[in-house]
Amino acid sequence: MAEYLGVRVEVASNDPEHREFLEAAGRGQFVVQRCPECQKLRYPIGSACPFCQSLGYEWAEVSGRGTIYSYEVVHHGIHPSFRPITPYPVVLVELDEQRGVPGPADGLRVLGLLVDAEGRPEDEERTGIGARVQVEFADLGDGLGLPRFRLADEPPEGEVWRYPD
Ligand SMILES: [Zn+2]
Repeated sequence: MAEYLGVRVEVASNDPEHREFLEAAGRGQFVVQRCPECQKLRYPIGSACPFCQSLGYEWAEVSGRGTIYSYEVVHHGIHPSFRPITPYPVVLVELDEQRGVPGPADGLRVLGLLVDAEGRPEDEERTGIGARVQVEFADLGDGLGLPRFRLADEPPEGEVWRYPD
């Protein structure tokens, strides 16, 4: 049985896209969908291309390296199972792949938890826009994994921005 923070993880049988995404993460691969028509990568996982509406997709493995584009720190978990790990940072990561596509302000952006080397939520003081991150995977069991991020040992892009105290 797959679980996360003590809660059973179920993927609906009519949702092959999310199952395949979590199965890839279980193998240590971070994948996003690529449209076979316009060739663009997309996220979040879904059934249609937001650029050309094609219903087709193929999986493309991406590096999982990127820059924090935005973030929030959750102090009140929406589910009791999250309470023990609050406060925890959720980061919107702009991946190195497909930056500036389809327009200069666009990019391939993915959401995830930011954790430290022990897999605990990263300190708020170390979280900030511009910091470089890399993907890692939480093991959910039953062959499934969940992508999440940790700070990369790389200089930030520009000056790191943090919420003021
Ligand atoms: Zn497309």
